[in-house]
Amino acid sequence: MALNLHVDGARWRDAQADTLRQRPGLVPVIKGNGYGFGRDLLCAEAERLGVPMVAVGTYAELPGALGTFARDVLVLEPYRAAIHHDLPQLRDTRVVHTVTAPDDLTDLRSVQGDARVVVEGLTSMGRFGMPLSSLPGFVTTARGEGVTLHLPLGSGHVAEISRFVEAVPDNRTWFLSHVTTAELADLQRRFPDREFRPRVGTDLWLGDKAAYEVRAHVLEARPIAKGERVGYRQRPQPAGHLVVVSGGTSHGVAMESPAAAATVRQRAIAVAEGALEAAHRVRSPFTVGGVMPRFAEPPHMQCSLLLLPEGVAPPAVGDTVPVRMRLTTAYPDAVVLS
Ligand SMILES: *Cc1c(COP(=O)(O)O)cnc(C)c1O
Repeated sequence: MALNLHVDGARWRDAQADTLRQRPGLVPVIKGNGYGFGRDLLCAEAERLGVPMVAVGTYAELPGALGTFARDVLVLEPYRAAIHHDLPQLRDTRVVHTVTAPDDLTDLRSVQGDARVVVEGLTSMGRFGMPLSSLPGFVTTARGEGVTLHLPLGSGHVAEISRFVEAVPDNRTWFLSHVTTAELADLQRRFPDREFRPRVGTDLWLGDKAAYEVRAHVLEARPIAKGERVGYRQRPQPAGHLVVVSGGTSHGVAMESPAAAATVRQRAIAVAEGALEAAHRVRSPFTVGGVMPRFAEPPHMQCSLLLLPEGVAPPAVGDTVPVRMRLTTAYPDAVVLS
């Protein structure tokens, strides 16, 4: 049994190429669950795209990327002397570190005198970074490869970015997260002699939703009478068919069920009870016979029990059914690239 991510390879790669064309200098972000595809596969895709650099989220993700991608790897989390000082990858000349504080930079350079860095500025995101007032001096001492800014989701970033660019006029390269193509064009017009390099994950890997689909196997389909109890929780069910499909909590199924709840009341219940408890009251993300049936009870670890209403023809064991999932929290059993 399996919950697999099926990918139309040609279409997916066309979309990647389009994104790269629209945002030259783009740095592919390859982190976490690899946007559902896995980080190794995405490193191989970045290799195909021919980009000179990819970005990983954490130092824990660095060895894998260095092994599967042949060129530079930027680490998005800041280098911290207290945490990362002993990592063997610090000496690798393909690694570009993010620094936010002078002490960390000093420590890093004590390990590797010519360690490559970018300096992060503290934006309205408020996560990591050197505040704007101290940034110009730090950029000068760091002798890095650019300044990086991580912006909140949404648009309207040009004014904030411009304040940084004007405050550090000698810095040529700016790595930017969560800027639109229109914002990039605007920045390039305002500052024609600077280089703006967007760091992009979601739009690059998940930009064309028609290029991929999660599908689950039907493992069982059985008529069920009104009031019959099933599952760990022995809840009475309405009449219809009980359909067991592959895909459970270990795959990330129902991670977003509160948002998928049909009504405000259901959403309120979902928030009050937690996503999994609420899951049986909301539509499941599986499409069976043209409908999205409810969970008979919260998803199990590797499969889910669905209640197909009366009047809907049951699927056959072995059929596959589409699953609507947020891929940033999906862990499919396999990626089937065609
Ligand atoms: C995750 C991340 C990105 C990429 O975000 P997407 O929304 O997936 O494009 C860019 N920059 C930083 C610092 C990140 O943590």
